[in-house]
Amino acid sequence: MGRNELTMQRRTIVIIGGGVAGSMLAVQLTRLPGGPWPLDVLLVETRPHLGPGTAYSNNRPEWLLNVRSGGMSAFPDEPDHFVDWLQQHGIDNCPNGFCPRQTYGRYLSSLVEDTLAQPAANGVRVQWLNTRAVAAEPAAHGCALHVILADGRRVAADTVVLALGNFPPPMPVQPADSYRQHPHFHANPWAPEALSSIRPDESVLLVGTGLTALDTLVALHKQRHRAPILAVSRHGHWPAPHASKPVVPYPNYYADKLAGLRTVTEVLRAVRRQVALGVTEGFDWRAVLDAPRPDFGRIWAAWPREEQQRFLRHLATRWSTLRHRNPPANAAILTELLDSGQLQVHHGCVQQIEPRGEQLAVELRHRTQHSWLVADHVVLCTGPLMDYQHINDPLVTSLRNGGLLVPDALRLGIRTNAAGALLNQDGQASECLYTLGSALRPLWFESTAVPELRRQAADLAATLAQRFTSSNGQLPSALRFVS
Ligand SMILES: Cc1cc2nc3c(=O)[nH]c(=O)nc-3n(C[C@H](O)[C@H](O)[C@H](O)COP(=O)(O)OP(=O)(O)OC[C@H]3O[C@@H](n4cnc5c(N)ncnc54)[C@H](O)[C@@H]3O)c2cc1C
Repeated sequence: MGRNELTMQRRTIVIIGGGVAGSMLAVQLTRLPGGPWPLDVLLVETRPHLGPGTAYSNNRPEWLLNVRSGGMSAFPDEPDHFVDWLQQHGIDNCPNGFCPRQTYGRYLSSLVEDTLAQPAANGVRVQWLNTRAVAAEPAAHGCALHVILADGRRVAADTVVLALGNFPPPMPVQPADSYRQHPHFHANPWAPEALSSIRPDESVLLVGTGLTALDTLVALHKQRHRAPILAVSRHGHWPAPHASKPVVPYPNYYADKLAGLRTVTEVLRAVRRQVALGVTEGFDWRAVLDAPRPDFGRIWAAWPREEQQRFLRHLATRWSTLRHRNPPANAAILTELLDSGQLQVHHGCVQQIEPRGEQLAVELRHRTQHSWLVADHVVLCTGPLMDYQHINDPLVTSLRNGGLLVPDALRLGIRTNAAGALLNQDGQASECLYTLGSALRPLWFESTAVPELRRQAADLAATLAQRFTSSNGQLPSALRFVS
């Protein structure tokens, strides 16, 4: 080969997890302007479909998105993309603008499956490895990793992105051996067919009163459940309902009122004042609360560690019930169940869970009072496990043991820099291991819903492209001059 002749060295990015975050990252890589990018993207996903992940893989049309379809585009720069897709496909099954989550799963699948069909115009090739990644370890030379798959294959990657998403809820009482395997203990309400074994005449106890508990209520209602339902949580707050019609947006007041506030109390005071003002001006409180949404992450990041801890201790649960709201159709079911007395809410912390023959008994502590509740089924609705110190998935364990993944001090996710590169114990950023999605909660706190994930996917695609680009911004660094 002659001097100064160019060869393009193909690069490989392995994305582990093909839910919303991983799939949208792959799609964004295929949309990068410029190129040709000599890049293989391998998406490792164990489910039978790419795209829907935990939240949007289900066969329950009654489980609705908790955001109107106008807020659910997969692309930050094309806000109507999902609404247009619904129209193009003649889909009209979204009561009051809230579509079934399975419909949204189909939308996501269609986007990522399009990328599998053929290499993108920019040269990026996406392939799906329908298996589980069980470990990752540094290659012998340079910045690269080997990903080990459950089927025994080893894949060499220049860059690995963890898009692992939501892990099932942690057991509320340890050790869990005595109750975990009980056939009427439902540890993962999102598992396919999880709730269908519950008969209408069997009593049910829900641990938690958040969005997952509401999903369970909606599913039981659909199954024409007749027996009592008990719900237990420390505070007993349910997610606030969405307004029955889309609300008029309120102007973002972050720059004027919130920027630079360094304590939770100051922010709380300022937001309360603004909500009161907005309501007197005729705005819905929800619009005022949501107005600084693009800057929520900056507010969180500006707080010192002690303030973040204070927020987690005193406000995070309340915040979540006001911020992550409930479609009106679900709110109506909740009201019906509460008003009829079929659903009873008990305040307290779960202390013990004991099998009693076919049933389960749950001990609750509320202040100094202890009480026992007995039900035919117990459903764990406490939300995903976020503490990477306690996630015992083989891949996470391998990365943690290898010192490549470090849980953050507040146990919200993974230690990373602002671009999502994993930090080691010494705080050094990896050049080949990144994450996005809920693992980034330590940085931004709000890092799970689609509006955050679509932005992160676009930003990370740009970051990775830059890594593969020489300093003059023109040529991929993978271009090698061969003598
Ligand atoms: C029940 C529920 C409802 C929600 N509803 C809404 C909503 O209405 N609107 C909204 O904006 N947000 C909603 N959310 C927030 C939601 O978390 C995100 O929208 C989104 O689902 C998160 O996507 P993700 O890709 O980060 O994670 P996930 O969807 O959890 O995807 C991660 C994927 O990684 C795969 N995986 C993990 N480990 C491995 C491995 N080692 N090898 C191979 N594959 C692996 C898993 O199989 C999974 O498919 C909801 C969340 C839940 C849990």
